[in-house]
Amino acid sequence: MEMTAINEEDVQVSEVAVPEIELKDVEMRYRTDTSEVLALQRVSLSIAKGEFVSLLGPSGCGKTTLLRIMAELQQPSEGDVRVAGGTARDARLARKYGIVFQNPVLYDWRKVKANIALPLEMMGYSRAERNRRAEELLALVGLEGFGDKYPWQLSGGMQQRVAIARALSMEPEILLMDEPFSALDEFTRERLNEELLAIWTKTGNTVVFVTHSISEAVFLSDRVFVLSPHPGRLSAVADIPLPRPRTKEMRNDPAFFRLVADIRNRFEGV
Ligand code: ADP
Repeated sequence: MEMTAINEEDVQVSEVAVPEIELKDVEMRYRTDTSEVLALQRVSLSIAKGEFVSLLGPSGCGKTTLLRIMAELQQPSEGDVRVAGGTARDARLARKYGIVFQNPVLYDWRKVKANIALPLEMMGYSRAERNRRAEELLALVGLEGFGDKYPWQLSGGMQQRVAIARALSMEPEILLMDEPFSALDEFTRERLNEELLAIWTKTGNTVVFVTHSISEAVFLSDRVFVLSPHPGRLSAVADIPLPRPRTKEMRNDPAFFRLVADIRNRFEGV
């Protein structure tokens, strides 16, 4: 595996040919009444169009903050964010983002189909168009036939697939995922990892996936951005040269274990 350590003189190291998301010297300070927390320190990175990357690190290292900055859900204290050749605000207004959170946040009184079509409804799409698109999305996430159920009738894994379908409803270029599977049992999580890759192969999104699971990051990603805490900073970028499509058999492959071990060793002493 190629693992590139990051240091302050070398912030350009993760530049890519056609960047979709570029961060330059991003810092985030949270002020409370009594103190100030430096949550992110000089984070610079580039993510290529169509790439699948993970933001990996222990709790509190700034992963969610970084994702929220990319999505323009919050402003960095300092630094530059470019998305799809423009500002993050342009990207948000052009609906280039689909976002999936740890909790699927579905409306229990709406059928699955109506949950998936909610963004389309808000954008004024006709009922016929919403139905057509919802059926396509149900098929994409492997939930054909479940459109008329209510969320509470589905398992946690299926609910999260509904949330993914909803995030993809406006055909965003970029899919941002904040620990989407961490509340699920390991079997379900591994299956959803495989399903997510199958979806990504069809949609071609740029995916930024936040996780604190090393094996999940390795299984899914083209590259893993390793973050270290206190203050949160980018400490390494790991290329994951496993072939695609990734299969569950690969989880037993010595090459997979080596990649996981190499990244785990980065965290020793953190
Ligand atoms: P992670 O997603 O890696 O767990 P976060 O981005 O949630 O990390 O948080 C990074 C750091 O910033 C943590 O120390 C956290 O306590 C702090 N932090 C996050 N959000 C706020 C906030 N709104 N106000 C104050 N501190 C915050």
